[in-house]
Amino acid sequence: MPTPPLAGGTAGPAHLRPLLDTVLAALHDGAVRRGGPLPAGGPDTVTHHTRATTGPLIPDQGTGPHHALRTLVTALAEGAADPAHPHCAAHLHTPPLALAAAADLAASALNPSMDSWDQAPAASTLEATLTTTLAAEIYPHAPRPDALVTTGGTEANQLALLLARERHGPVQTICAANAHHSVTRATWILGLPRPVVIPAPRGTMDPTALHDALTTLTGPLLVTATAGTTDTGRIDPLDHIADLTTAHDADLHIDAAYGGPLLFSPTHRPLLDGLHRAHSVTLDLHKLGWQPASAGILAVPHHHDLHPLHHQAPYLNADDDTDAGLPDLLGRSLRTTRRPDALKIAVTLQALGRDGLADLIDRTVAAAHHLADLIDRDPDLRLHDRPTISTVLFRPTHADDTTVATIRRTLLTQGQAVLGRAHIDGELWLKATLLNPHATPDDLQHLLTLVTHAHHGATTEGSTPR
Ligand SMILES: *Cc1c(COP(=O)(O)O)cnc(C)c1O
Repeated sequence: MPTPPLAGGTAGPAHLRPLLDTVLAALHDGAVRRGGPLPAGGPDTVTHHTRATTGPLIPDQGTGPHHALRTLVTALAEGAADPAHPHCAAHLHTPPLALAAAADLAASALNPSMDSWDQAPAASTLEATLTTTLAAEIYPHAPRPDALVTTGGTEANQLALLLARERHGPVQTICAANAHHSVTRATWILGLPRPVVIPAPRGTMDPTALHDALTTLTGPLLVTATAGTTDTGRIDPLDHIADLTTAHDADLHIDAAYGGPLLFSPTHRPLLDGLHRAHSVTLDLHKLGWQPASAGILAVPHHHDLHPLHHQAPYLNADDDTDAGLPDLLGRSLRTTRRPDALKIAVTLQALGRDGLADLIDRTVAAAHHLADLIDRDPDLRLHDRPTISTVLFRPTHADDTTVATIRRTLLTQGQAVLGRAHIDGELWLKATLLNPHATPDDLQHLLTLVTHAHHGATTEGSTPR
């Protein structure tokens, strides 16, 4: 076989074009074969089919680029849980915009690595512009806001706790029962005390309990609040919490992985009042920002707040190189080799503009409200509560938790719908996390019909008496 061509340089695009034709055809064929939001049959069937259609991964003689691309991309698409399908709505698993995926191709072809200027001359400038621009959206009045690009909320929360530890030593984290699991994991990784967990009745941090915790606990404290919880999409009372942390001289981190992009919607941004008062903010654009993974942000009000991450490796940021004007990038992450995720984000922001982003967000929130209306009007279904962002919890009116869990798995194994689950107030709920701005009222009604049919199926099979 001839030496395979490269993606970059002047020749790269011409080599990519026919390969992309093969990839795009395979994506199309795989989606047609799947026909729904996910492959039917459940894990054993899908595993078997995927193994059977993909063949050995390291054959003695290669099968060539078109064959391998066709085989593996088709298999992946056929077996995908595809968030572009309006009935794939379990998680904060976004349907990426086509333009963002296209931008990501350029990132792969050029392969800038963000750990040193000599691997990413323009990409590092673009990333710096993007991070200061996004940080200024979060901290409009701060002197020199800055942000790091992360692999997502998990890494951003971990960095936030690391920065707090570097400011104060072994801080005690306080979070509410609604906080993301990555907060507890971050304390474990960083050798910090386990978080003190305060109640979150009705899904949000209880300020009275926070006041008590801040009054009782001693030593440096870090409160982590959530703007958009994973289970219900609720937003903690950020301003109230910031008043309390200010009064008690505690630090505040806000995990706005889900809700943060509401900033771009003039209609919904008041939900985030108080966000700018945090010492650090987590925000994900691979959720309510329609980016392919990954696209996370950790923002801080002042560039200097990131100084503890400064690190030196003579081959990447020697002092004399830095003195001579080569930007020192190593402190922008704990990772070394790092993808230019800034590119797809920048392309998206520029292509859509403020209006376009606001429209996507408003549409998505409106779809969630419409779904809630449909559930409210359906006597066979019970709505947990009005959505705050785009998460809607519901369950059949007459079903026990076992039936609810069975309905979810039935829809999964039949390849009909991908719904999530959340245990709230002692009951199990079906969770629809809407992120698809193309979902129509008919799509949403159909989703509910699927649930109702699955419920009737579960009851007529006699698994659960009504
Ligand atoms: C999704 C999410 C995270 C984790 O983010 P990843 O991007 O999956 O690492 C953390 N916190 C909240 C509130 C989230 O919704």
